[in-house]
Amino acid sequence: MKLDILVFGAHPDDAELGAGGTIAKEVSRGKKVGIIDLTRGELGTRGSAEIRDKESAKAAGILNVAVRENMEFADGFFINDKAHQLEIIKMVRKYCPDIVLCNAVDDRHIDHAKGSKLVSDACFLSGLTKIDTKMDGEEEWQEAWRPKVVYHYIQWKNLTPDFAVDVSGFIDKKTDAILAYGSQFFDPNSDEPETPISSKNFIDSVNYRARDLGRLIGVEYAEGFTVERFVGVDNLDDLI
Ligand SMILES: [Zn+2]
Repeated sequence: MKLDILVFGAHPDDAELGAGGTIAKEVSRGKKVGIIDLTRGELGTRGSAEIRDKESAKAAGILNVAVRENMEFADGFFINDKAHQLEIIKMVRKYCPDIVLCNAVDDRHIDHAKGSKLVSDACFLSGLTKIDTKMDGEEEWQEAWRPKVVYHYIQWKNLTPDFAVDVSGFIDKKTDAILAYGSQFFDPNSDEPETPISSKNFIDSVNYRARDLGRLIGVEYAEGFTVERFVGVDNLDDLI
């Protein structure tokens, strides 16, 4: 299956938190969007891998993405080496996305910058014809494929975006997708330990940060991204 946009996240919920509004908007525009989580989030203080499997499937349903897969890399300990790059290359060649979204280039959780570089490196390598890959159990070798662009969503740290997507009208869907992760976020009735993302302030911040970024570009809500090369536009009217 060819996808228009493939979104990678180190942990289930990264894609929703960083780019949930953009994903919902692109799906509503008829784009085929998929999500690939690198780990099952098994080291998360709250919940468990099994619970997060269910939560991520529910969130995928809310966002109406075409596919969601999990690489089952080791939470906290995966590294950016040849073995991991080859696994990501296989996914890039399987889905042939034009656009890849991935983790923030710099963040509080060590997996975010690591996952960001791993996916970015793999997207480049995936375009090299002399790297041979095939899916497990398949006979056919995969064709080389390099996405046109890789954009990085913004997570815990307030990085300065290179561009912002207007997600007005999609913030409720983003919030619903995030709240599908009942084990992770603010729940006044939970007996589980507090974490940086389980506070009321954190879940509120998802909304007020999007609102603030929206204010700065003259819309109601926005999500910010950083780029690997400067953004080109067809003409000046492309800018909102
Ligand atoms: Zn994460």
